[in-house]
Amino acid sequence: MFLKPDYNLKSIYEINLEELKSLGIKAILFDLDSTIMASKSGCYSEETRNWLNKVKESFFVAVISNNKNPKYIQKVQNISDFPLLFNAGKPRVRRTKKFLKNYDLPPKECVLVGDRPLTDILCGKLLGCKTILVDSITAKTESKVVRLVRALERCSIRK
Ligand SMILES: [Mg+2]
Repeated sequence: MFLKPDYNLKSIYEINLEELKSLGIKAILFDLDSTIMASKSGCYSEETRNWLNKVKESFFVAVISNNKNPKYIQKVQNISDFPLLFNAGKPRVRRTKKFLKNYDLPPKECVLVGDRPLTDILCGKLLGCKTILVDSITAKTESKVVRLVRALERCSIRK
C-alpha cells in the first residue's frame, strides 16, 4: 500500500546502518518529536545523542520537524550540531525539497525516519526517499489515548 514504509521498526536503534549504506543512502532525515526526542522535551537522551554521533560518522544527519514554536526551536538548535528544518509542513514536500536542494542531497539518497505514517512516511514517499517508521521513543510511557490514536493511524499502512 502507498503508505507502507520501507522498514517498520521498534526504534531508531534498530536501523541497520550498514544496509542503508549498501543501498546508496547518504543522508538520514529524522523527524524530531517522538522519533529522536521525547515529545516536547527539548533534549536528547544520552543514549540517543551517542547513537546520533555514531550515525554522523557515516551519514549526513538532519532533522525535518513540523514544530514551529520559536522557544522550542531555539532550545533544540542550541543542543544540536546538525542541520534542522522546522515548520516543515509535512506531509507537504515544498520546504523539505528546498532544504535537500540546499544541501545537494538527491531524495533517492535519503531516508526519512519518523513515527507518523500520515505525515513523516507520506512526506518521504512523496519526496521519493526511502522511509522508516519507528514506534514513538516514549511509547512505553504514553497515555492510553495517545496509544490508541497511534494504533488507528497505523491501520492506514496495513495491506
Ligand atoms: Mg513525530
